[in-house]
Amino acid sequence: MTPSIAIVGGGAGGIFAALAASRTAREQTIAMEVHLFERNPRLGIKILISGGGKCNITHAGTIEELLIEGFPRKTEQRFLKSAMYRYTNEEVIALLGMQNVSVHARENGRVFPDSGRAEDVLLALEQELRKQHVSVHTNSRIESVAHTEDGNWNIECNGEIITAHALVLATGGTSYSKTGTTGDGIGYARELGHTIVPVRAALAPIYLKEAPAQSLVGISLRNINISVTRNGKILASRRGDVLITHRGLSGPAILSISNQAAMLIEGGPISIHANIGGHNEDGTRAMLIAEQQSNPKQQVKTYLESLLPNHFVPFVMEQAEVPSDRKWHELTRDERARLVSTLVHYSFGEVSEVPLERGEVTSGGVALGEVDPKTMMSRVRPGLFFAGEMLDVAGEIGGYNLQAAYSTGWVAGESAVDFLNA
Ligand SMILES: Cc1cc2nc3c(=O)[nH]c(=O)nc-3n(C[C@H](O)[C@H](O)[C@H](O)COP(=O)(O)OP(=O)(O)OC[C@H]3O[C@@H](n4cnc5c(N)ncnc54)[C@H](O)[C@@H]3O)c2cc1C
Repeated sequence: MTPSIAIVGGGAGGIFAALAASRTAREQTIAMEVHLFERNPRLGIKILISGGGKCNITHAGTIEELLIEGFPRKTEQRFLKSAMYRYTNEEVIALLGMQNVSVHARENGRVFPDSGRAEDVLLALEQELRKQHVSVHTNSRIESVAHTEDGNWNIECNGEIITAHALVLATGGTSYSKTGTTGDGIGYARELGHTIVPVRAALAPIYLKEAPAQSLVGISLRNINISVTRNGKILASRRGDVLITHRGLSGPAILSISNQAAMLIEGGPISIHANIGGHNEDGTRAMLIAEQQSNPKQQVKTYLESLLPNHFVPFVMEQAEVPSDRKWHELTRDERARLVSTLVHYSFGEVSEVPLERGEVTSGGVALGEVDPKTMMSRVRPGLFFAGEMLDVAGEIGGYNLQAAYSTGWVAGESAVDFLNA
C-alpha cells in the first residue's frame, strides 16, 4: 500500500504542507500519496480576503527581523525560528515568481503582488499544487479523526472513512468562522491529548461600553500613543494610528494591542486612554502656556483644531471641562491643568469586548511546548503534525501570519515524509 499523508485544511498552512510533502517525496524518489482536504468549494479563502483582497503575502527583511518585529512573545519567536529559517520569505517570493506572480515590498516592508490581486497569489498556488500532483479534495470537511492501534489515522469525510499514515492538521484559528474556520482541528487536537491554550482575539477591533458619538465615526488619529489601563494604571501601550468606529476603536495601533486587551479584560474592567497631544505632561503644559502667552485673544479650540481633527475637539474640551468658547486669556489655572491631563490621558472609556470573531488572527490553540519546532510533529502522538494558525501563534499585521503558516506548513509536510520514510 502506498504511504499516504492526509492534510486537513486548505489554507496557507495546508497548501504549503502539501507542496513540501509532494516535492520531498519526489526528490527522494519515494512513492507517496498527498491528499489535501478543504471543506470549502475552493482552497485558500483567507488568502483571498487577506490584505483587503490585495494579499500582504509576507514581510521583507531578514528572518531575525521578521521574528522580532512580527511576533510579540519570545515563546513564539523561539518556536518559529527553525521553521522560518527552513522556509523563508524569499523562498515564498521565488515560488510565486516561478508562477509569474511578481511582488514588491512597500516602504514599511509589507510584500504584495504587483497586480494587487490576492486571486493571482491563490491561482499560482493552485497551479503549483497541480504541478506537484497533490490530490486536492474540496467540499470535503473532515468530521472526525482517530489514531488507530497500528499507528495510522482514520479520518471521516462525507460519510467515508479514509486511512492515512501521517496526518497534518492545518484548520486555522476560530475567527471569521463563516470562512470555514470553526476550530475543528483544535477540537481534534484536544481529543488526541493536546493541551489547548484558550483562544482569544488578535488583530481585532476593540468595542467600547459607550459607543463613540456619530460625529466621531471615521476619524483617524495619526501616530498617537494608546494604552490599556485599569484603575488608572497603564497595563499595555502601543504607538500608531487609531480609527474611531461605530462600536469603538480600530486601526493599526488598536489591532496590535487587541490581543493583550483580550487577555487583560478577563482579569477585570479595562479602559482605553490615549496621549492625543504628542507630548508628556511637562511638554504639554509648556506648549499650552506658550500658546496662552502668545495668542491671549485666540479661542482655545482654534489651537486644538490645529492639533486634532476638528470634530474631535469638542469632545476633548468637554472631557477637560473647558467651555467651548474659552479664550486663552480667560483660561483658569485649573482648566489648563485639566486640559493638559486630557491631552495626555484622553479617555475613550471602558472596553466592552474584544470580539474574537473579528480578529484577523486568533491567539491560543495547540500549546507550543507539545510540538517539536524542528518538525512540527506532535510530542504526544507520533505521525501527527500541525501547521499555521491553529498553533498558539499570533503575529502582528504585516504579512507575518501568512509567513508563519507557510513556514510551519512547509516543515510539517517535509517532516511527515521523513517520518514515513524513516
Ligand atoms: C480579513 C483577514 C485579513 C488578513 N490579512 C492578512 C494579510 O494580509 N497578511 C497576513 O499575513 N495575514 C493576514 N491574515 C491572517 C492570515 O490570513 C491567517 O493567519 C492565515 O491564513 C492562516 O493560515 P492557516 O492555513 O493556518 O489557516 P486558514 O487560512 O484559516 O485555513 C484553514 C482552512 O481549513 C479549513 N478547514 C477548517 N476545518 C476544516 C475541516 N474540518 N475539514 C476540512 N477543512 C477545514 C478552512 O475552511 C480553511 O480554509 C488575515 C486574516 C483575515 C481574517
